[in-house]
Amino acid sequence: MFDIIIIGAGPSGLATALYALRANKKVLILEASAYGGQIINASNIENYPGIKSISGFDFATNLYNQVKDLGATIKFEKVLKVTENKEVTTAKDTYQAKVIVIATGKKPRKLEIEGEDKLIGKGISYCATCDGNFYKGKEVAIVGGGNTAIEDAIYLSAICKKVYLIHRREEFRAFSKSIEELKSKENVEFILNSNIAKINGNDSLESIEIKKDNEIINLKVQGLFIAIGGETQNDIFTNVVDLDEFGYIETHNDVMTKTLGIFVAGDARKKSLYQLTTAVADGALVADLAIKYINLSTQ
Ligand code: NAP
Repeated sequence: MFDIIIIGAGPSGLATALYALRANKKVLILEASAYGGQIINASNIENYPGIKSISGFDFATNLYNQVKDLGATIKFEKVLKVTENKEVTTAKDTYQAKVIVIATGKKPRKLEIEGEDKLIGKGISYCATCDGNFYKGKEVAIVGGGNTAIEDAIYLSAICKKVYLIHRREEFRAFSKSIEELKSKENVEFILNSNIAKINGNDSLESIEIKKDNEIINLKVQGLFIAIGGETQNDIFTNVVDLDEFGYIETHNDVMTKTLGIFVAGDARKKSLYQLTTAVADGALVADLAIKYINLSTQ
């Protein structure tokens, strides 16, 4: 029997674990793939209070090691089901806890266009910091207008011969400071108000077809980085939580779901600001409420 089972080892799940472990709670973290969540792909974080600059990988690894050293049980198993009485079934086992925390974040969104699936790993990537080095001295494109796309484009501009930044609008969601930095790079070209219509190639990426003002531009690139945000993965929890129209978990008191003792932290929940700082803040909030809930229910 665990006090708390945390589903997801991204910043919000690991922050929940940090606070719960420091309150002497027995914690199990279940993670389907790798620790770190989406932030592990950020090349440089410069808006985390108290840290001037750190890579997403270093940030996630520090937090993961901090939690491991405090004695968390961490298992890399995909969760298949949770029940109202706090039972969690994975592909390997079933675990019982007093509290469940859903911290499953988001997974990279796909363009959902012809040619995308068959060329993943053969020219198409969703992580520039993981795969950028394979494209040293080559011509690549990156699609998206958020912080991930802009930071990835800056990162790739130092490795690749040429970087095309393709975005469907003229305005960006990314920080203006990052956009200015990207604009100053001589090997970067912006292709705005444009959408990728088709991806060509059989065994490897050959070109992409871009639709701009009813015109089709055929761009020869060896790599395409897709950085168009993420999608929630909350469908397996609908027996214990309510989802909004976009798939985010509905809450009251910020992090409480409709089921007593089941909480949600980070990007999986409906909220107004999806940032690293708000993800870890959710972890602290959840842990505090979870600890109070456990202490009350065991009195
Ligand atoms: P995001 O902010 O949601 O941006 C996604 C971008 O992709 C938007 O520009 C969007 O266009 C575009 N897009 C979405 N669907 C598309 C489609 N089907 N086709 C073409 N374009 C599409 O995602 P993100 O950049 O991954 O960032 C996620 C969160 O992490 C954000 O809160 C971000 O600030 C944060 N983050 C922070 C840092 C940092 O602090 N250093 C680094 C990375 C990410 P529209 O604008 O037209 O909707």
